Amino acid sequence: MKTVNGKTVLITGASRGIGASCAEKFAKNGFSVVINYKSNSEKAENVAKSCLSLGAPSALTVKADVSVGSEVDALYCACKNMYVDTLVLNAGVALYSLFQDVSEQEYDRIMDTNVKGAFLTVKKFLPDMISKKRGNIIIISSMWGQTGGSCEVVYSASKAALIGMTKALAKELGPSGIRVNCIAPGVVETDMVASLGKDTLASLAEDTPLCRNAVSDDIANAVYYLASDEASFITGQVLAVNGGLLT
Ligand code: NAP
Repeated sequence: MKTVNGKTVLITGASRGIGASCAEKFAKNGFSVVINYKSNSEKAENVAKSCLSLGAPSALTVKADVSVGSEVDALYCACKNMYVDTLVLNAGVALYSLFQDVSEQEYDRIMDTNVKGAFLTVKKFLPDMISKKRGNIIIISSMWGQTGGSCEVVYSASKAALIGMTKALAKELGPSGIRVNCIAPGVVETDMVASLGKDTLASLAEDTPLCRNAVSDDIANAVYYLASDEASFITGQVLAVNGGLLT
């Protein structure tokens, strides 16, 4: 894989939504991009085409379920000819349900995707970053990880775990020249929240001081900022990108 500025970003869960916007933002800024996804090959290929047209030197799509160690190993192997210096840990799933109705299988699916997925991906890509003493990790949490969301207890717990992971990893990896930060988005209009329905989304927008819900680009801009040299003395932080909701 060629790189113009020598930079390559891997974004997990980049076939749509926030991940796809992140891929396009990095592409516009000259990064080579690796677009991971779980099942939507066609959407992932479209994101790759868009990244190339926006200026990415190369765009690779890799199907891998980040909650499965052997698939993360295969994701790493697919990237073996390049140095991934920026990781955006974005793949995630949500569940809206009363706490008592959540099954053990649903608990495992949420925690395995959101938390174990981040753990496995960092673990695999970290040794190269440490040996080069350079790297950037951005983790996508949620405002519910900061405040707790009713009917989203397991999701909130998974996103709170990612905040802990960010803060602890930042301390451990700072001396190796690797920064670790976290974004806590508010309501972002993607497939993930579509099931809430138009009326609920409109009332969430009304409750937001900036009077709208986020679009994926709002989050991608913040992710790119944290990955950039403009943020070179920022690590271990949680940046709330929520339009003023719940702050
Ligand atoms: P989305 O539109 O539902 O997209 C989810 C992405 O994650 C898709 O690319 C999907 O791939 C991928 N994915 C899911 N499970 C995966 C797995 N096991 N392995 C690899 N990829 C997987 O979600 P989104 O709204 O963009 O959310 C992105 C992140 O932001 C999530 O971590 C979410 O929790 C967080 N977030 C979202 C909101 C919001 O309001 N939307 C708010 C706060 C935080 P396929 O297309 O192949 O299924």
